[in-house]
Amino acid sequence: MSRKVVVLGEVRDGALRNVSFEAIAAGNTVAEGGEVVAVLVGESVSSLANELTQYGADRVVTVEDPKLASYTPDGFSQAVLAVIEAESPEALVFGHTALGKDLSPKIAGKLNTGLVSDVTAIEIAGGNIVFTRPIYSGKAFEKKIVTDGLIFATVRPNNIAPLEKDESRTGEITSLSVDIKDLRTIVKEVVRKATEGVDLSEAKVVIAGGRGVKSADGFEPLKELATVLGGAIGASRGACDADYCDYSLQIGQTGKVVTPDLYIACGISGAIQHLAGMSNSKVIVAINKDPEANIFKVADYGIVGDLFEVVPMLTEEFKKLKVNA
Ligand SMILES: Cc1cc2nc3c(=O)[nH]c(=O)nc-3n(C[C@H](O)[C@H](O)[C@H](O)COP(=O)(O)OP(=O)(O)OC[C@H]3O[C@@H](n4cnc5c(N)ncnc54)[C@H](O)[C@@H]3O)c2cc1C
Repeated sequence: MSRKVVVLGEVRDGALRNVSFEAIAAGNTVAEGGEVVAVLVGESVSSLANELTQYGADRVVTVEDPKLASYTPDGFSQAVLAVIEAESPEALVFGHTALGKDLSPKIAGKLNTGLVSDVTAIEIAGGNIVFTRPIYSGKAFEKKIVTDGLIFATVRPNNIAPLEKDESRTGEITSLSVDIKDLRTIVKEVVRKATEGVDLSEAKVVIAGGRGVKSADGFEPLKELATVLGGAIGASRGACDADYCDYSLQIGQTGKVVTPDLYIACGISGAIQHLAGMSNSKVIVAINKDPEANIFKVADYGIVGDLFEVVPMLTEEFKKLKVNA
């Protein structure tokens, strides 16, 4: 059965976030040949709309207003609900990002519908759309189907591959005028915490440090490796609690959930709460001087050794590979 799907595009620093393209790919699966309508909300976002069609959206609806320059749940929910009312879709797909996690329950509540959150895979089986999502901090997966009403899913970044970009692909781009009112929050300034470089949630490579880095300066060799590999820095809560780095870098049950292609854990013991945030990474490398460390149980490659010796050696080897490539 084909259906119309509304997908939310996300913008950060004037560019579309990769999760927008992943959500469009998910939307295409859910649409089963029906129409995928992407929504872009912001102050001035229409110049980005065409790229959404290049990644597989059939149409794009923009809602622009100076009051939407920064995300607020009140403002964005008014904008997205107006598009949903105008389009009457059978399904919604958002990214399972900080924004998506905040906005989707509000929208689901307003529409009096359910929500399948944090989806990592979607397949069509037995005539149903089957959503896979992790439960019990990633120790198990459940499969869900929506039997009645609107289908609403959020997709975890880095799990559903975007469709190939086709620069010749175009689609209708329209704007919807929405009277945004009664904002309870006005964002005056956005101050980013220590997240220079690659966005941790969407990074293809993450170099994470634990209490084993021993100090804030102990992150320096990890940063050098991250620079060579084009990766982002992450951390265990142990490292954050010890004040070696900012909590915005924390990965795990009470931190960020990441699914990079390559996760290098340096001086991290592998507590269950840490594994909840990274065990679905595609390739896991663990560097730890304790051969019994729990992290080795989830690692594809384990290096027993002192991270202050191993990490600089890896950096040098990767540099050589890049020069010879
Ligand atoms: C409710 C709750 C929620 C939590 N949420 C999270 C969460 O979201 N994320 C999270 O990470 N934790 C979380 N924790 C904390 C978690 O239980 C662990 O305490 C924490 O992950 C430990 O951090 P760590 O591995 O860096 O430190 P440690 O357990 O102290 O491990 C340090 C490791 O470094 C190794 N090491 C030391 N020196 C070197 C060296 N020179 N070279 C190589 N290896 C070295 C050691 O062998 C050791 O394995 C939570 C705990 C609770 C109770």
